[in-house]
Amino acid sequence: MRFALAIDLGGTKIAAAIVGEDGTIVAHSTRPTEAQRGGDWVLNRIKEAALEALETSKIHPTQLVGVGMGTPGVVDAEKGIMLSEAVNIPGWKGRNLKAELERVLGIPAFIENDANAAGLGEFVFGAGKGAKSLVFVALGTGIGGAVIINGELIHGVSFAAGELGHISVDPNGLKCGCGNYGCIELYASGPAIAQKAREFVLAGVSTKLASMCSPEELTAEHVTKAAQEGDFLAQSVLAESGRLLGVVLAGIVNLLSPDCIVIGGGVAQAGDWLLEPIRWEVKRRALPDATKDLQIVPAALGTNAGVLGAAALVFRSVQG
Ligand SMILES: [Zn+2]
Repeated sequence: MRFALAIDLGGTKIAAAIVGEDGTIVAHSTRPTEAQRGGDWVLNRIKEAALEALETSKIHPTQLVGVGMGTPGVVDAEKGIMLSEAVNIPGWKGRNLKAELERVLGIPAFIENDANAAGLGEFVFGAGKGAKSLVFVALGTGIGGAVIINGELIHGVSFAAGELGHISVDPNGLKCGCGNYGCIELYASGPAIAQKAREFVLAGVSTKLASMCSPEELTAEHVTKAAQEGDFLAQSVLAESGRLLGVVLAGIVNLLSPDCIVIGGGVAQAGDWLLEPIRWEVKRRALPDATKDLQIVPAALGTNAGVLGAAALVFRSVQG
């Protein structure tokens, strides 16, 4: 069997894995990113994690067909060059990561934006297996996305496609860091859900959340837990976020007519408390012709979506 070295670079953690062509993870290694130390440091940590994973896997290096990596930021996926900074890694913009990884590891390298890699992972190995066209939504600290049409990741001419977190749901809404107003990221990301819940707690609304921790410490995880325990306020907060996300996705469904939308990222742990309002809103708003073959499903790969997607990049690029 062929194997790929797969790397998922996150803001706080680097995950490296050796992945078989069937999606089996045979070895795994992680390191803290320590992003503030800069690009060169991060690259060294990536190399360390990669070599450790390779060593523990005990596969023969000749079975390794390439290395794939997902990184935050805008990536020229053809050349493997960073077109933007990756949130918190100084000196990441402008790097030719493809060339640097090929030089360090001696195998063909493929670089992709992290949400695109995770979306590809779900498409090839996870909840989107068997789909033709898929939209992936990564709900976490921010909201990222990936669009796959007829099996191909859509990059756009400037490689910035798929940023569905910055689609506006309110022209006069909250100001976003991107410069726009009312971006869905400000209403349905983890911090947004926590903030909404916090406002209700501080206003004295009756909710289990008030006894779980101090309002400042509230996270989307608390909201999910309270919702699962039957807390009406927590359920309402998730439903409102789901509803607004459904508004965005209804537009996307009209535009692309995919057969699968996969909801992933940490916030997706909220399950049907979030998914049902999304499904309802999409069904209600999108054109019937565009929704008749559509499924909206939770991600299946959890935190492994990134490495599995990075592996999929390699297998689809290197002919067997
Ligand atoms: Zn924005």
